[in-house]
Amino acid sequence: MKAKAYAALDPKKPLVPWTFERREPGERDVRIDISFCGICHSDLHTARGEWQGVKHPVVPGHEIAGKVTAVGKKVTRFKTGDLAGVGCMVDSCRRCENCRKGLEQHCFAPANYTYNSVEKDGVTPTQGGYSSHIVVNEDFAFQLGAGLPLERVAPLLCAGITTYSPLKRFGAGKGKKVGILGLGGLGHMGVKLAAAMGAEVVVLSGSPSKKPTRTGSARTTSC
Ligand SMILES: [Zn+2]
Ligand SMILES: [Zn+2]
Repeated sequence: MKAKAYAALDPKKPLVPWTFERREPGERDVRIDISFCGICHSDLHTARGEWQGVKHPVVPGHEIAGKVTAVGKKVTRFKTGDLAGVGCMVDSCRRCENCRKGLEQHCFAPANYTYNSVEKDGVTPTQGGYSSHIVVNEDFAFQLGAGLPLERVAPLLCAGITTYSPLKRFGAGKGKKVGILGLGGLGHMGVKLAAAMGAEVVVLSGSPSKKPTRTGSARTTSC
């Protein structure tokens, strides 16, 4: 099925409308109509060819939120109409030591990333969420609760998990102090998450323009 997208055809030019073929859902795949996709700075680096090995045309976007419109016959975790999200990976080898530990992001193969990578067949380029729909193995789609505001959920799929993971790993919570360096796309997410976990949050920033009024348990320090 054809997907409509915005693609970088060339690192020096703006994104333009582009269509490409997505695979039909296999037995374990879900098709997700994309409602919202966040913009991550990795998208810009990729579109501009600032990282090694970018192959154009490329459709960026790995903060994907939408609605399931088709499921393969062996799919067990989703049904048509469910809300679903996709982050920066769409598959992995599933066999290496890291995959077996649930650390697919460190797959030795390596992982199949959402764009500028290849599908599991090893040849078809993956294309990201600045597109009308995506087809992904259900193991790499996240279930989203009914009624969640998808425009707010989408950025959690990269900026959110990137900041949530270390906070969780290092036990941020009541009685702990968390320092957030910079109040940008990830920083503001870190502030919200750490505050929600009950930690005392301090933002360290070199941009006085970002000094807010004191809110909740967050305070700022300019340096
Ligand atoms: Zn990202
Ligand atoms: Zn692996």
